[in-house]
Amino acid sequence: MKKKPFVTKEQLEEIVSAYPTPFHLYDEAGIRRNAEALREAFSWNPGYREYFAVKATPNPFLIQILREYGCGYDCSSYTELMLSEAIGAEPGDIMFSSNDTPAEEFALADRLGAIINLDDITHIDFLEKTIGHIPETISCRYNPGGLFKISNDIMDNPGDAKYGMTTEQIFEAFRILKEKGARKFGIHAFLASNTVTNEYYPMLARVLFEVAVRIQRETGAHIQFINLSGGIGIPYKPDQEANDIRAIGEGVRKVYEEVLVPAGMGDVAIYTELGRFMMGPYGCLVTTAIHEKHTHKEYIGVDACAANLMRPAMYGAYHHITVMGKEDAPCDHMYDVTGSLCENNDKFAIDRMLPKIDMGDFLVIHDTGAHGYSMGYNYNGRLRSAEVLLREDGRAQLIRRAETPADYFATFDCFEIGKKLLKQNI
Ligand SMILES: *Cc1c(COP(=O)(O)O)cnc(C)c1O
Repeated sequence: MKKKPFVTKEQLEEIVSAYPTPFHLYDEAGIRRNAEALREAFSWNPGYREYFAVKATPNPFLIQILREYGCGYDCSSYTELMLSEAIGAEPGDIMFSSNDTPAEEFALADRLGAIINLDDITHIDFLEKTIGHIPETISCRYNPGGLFKISNDIMDNPGDAKYGMTTEQIFEAFRILKEKGARKFGIHAFLASNTVTNEYYPMLARVLFEVAVRIQRETGAHIQFINLSGGIGIPYKPDQEANDIRAIGEGVRKVYEEVLVPAGMGDVAIYTELGRFMMGPYGCLVTTAIHEKHTHKEYIGVDACAANLMRPAMYGAYHHITVMGKEDAPCDHMYDVTGSLCENNDKFAIDRMLPKIDMGDFLVIHDTGAHGYSMGYNYNGRLRSAEVLLREDGRAQLIRRAETPADYFATFDCFEIGKKLLKQNI
């Protein structure tokens, strides 16, 4: 399928006159349409709730849109908890799915009335010592180990993942938690990332539902919810077919009726913690071609770099690129599209066939709405870009300004050199 940007060249020209490139642009209409489709897909389950994975796109303006669709917040750090509180999280609105958790983060999560999802059996004592009690509602993260396969395809390798408790440990954890006064229990697992198949969630659901039935039977712990977490992927490549969220919801419903209902557990709520699926396709990185270089290869240098989007450098991830205004031109030029970092992996594309690029062309780098801006960093003293929201009515709204040198130097503010640096730039 041809990947089309959600913005036109004319719209971009107008946006760029107010907010220079590079910036991440988000599509309000797309975010809303998708959130609505997710809600409908799981409407068969009365307790269903999506807790948006804040780490994917920690922007309050975007998360506020998801709130209108009933979404809560999935947090894993102190600042994500702070952000969620500021956006208006009430008790029960936050799922705290962290690992290797510092004490002060458990304390803040408890103060905000977050549902705490324990990554390890040793965290029971750690949590109790930290907050002085065991919450009435508590969740445990499960890792059955081994490989996670669909038919013969290996989806991921939970046996090699640092997360979650073994089967033996999770039974033991529920017994201990129950003894210590917990009354309502949840089970959580994240066994494969960025799955582009409608089978992942139903397969995961079967693993979790079956273990939930055994846990409730053997420990007497009342399972209130099962959290399927993240992992529903998006088609980064043009030849991939997008997941069908209706089919996924329906697949989970079938397993629910097959496994949980006969066990008398038809009151279990299904939770999700999607990040990529909620935002990924509804964001793009807009950048301008500023240099061309003809050496051993053909290079196009753009004004964004891996500091704005790390996935290609970090994982070799594919992000589709559209040269704006040349959507229908033949892709008869092979380029490496690079950023400016002194780091040879700072390339958005390698040996990519694209239309002939001229200096000043806008390049739209697709699918940066999740794990895009948020993975940004400041290597080489590069600054993080702005974030702009393309509203449903076509207006552009700044939802995060670009960093300035003052932001970069802010952590020297208590030193003499910092005062000098901060005075240098206005
Ligand atoms: C990252 C993460 C998610 C979201 O993952 P996606 O792949 O973006 O859907 C959900 N839950 C937890 C605990 C995570 O760490």
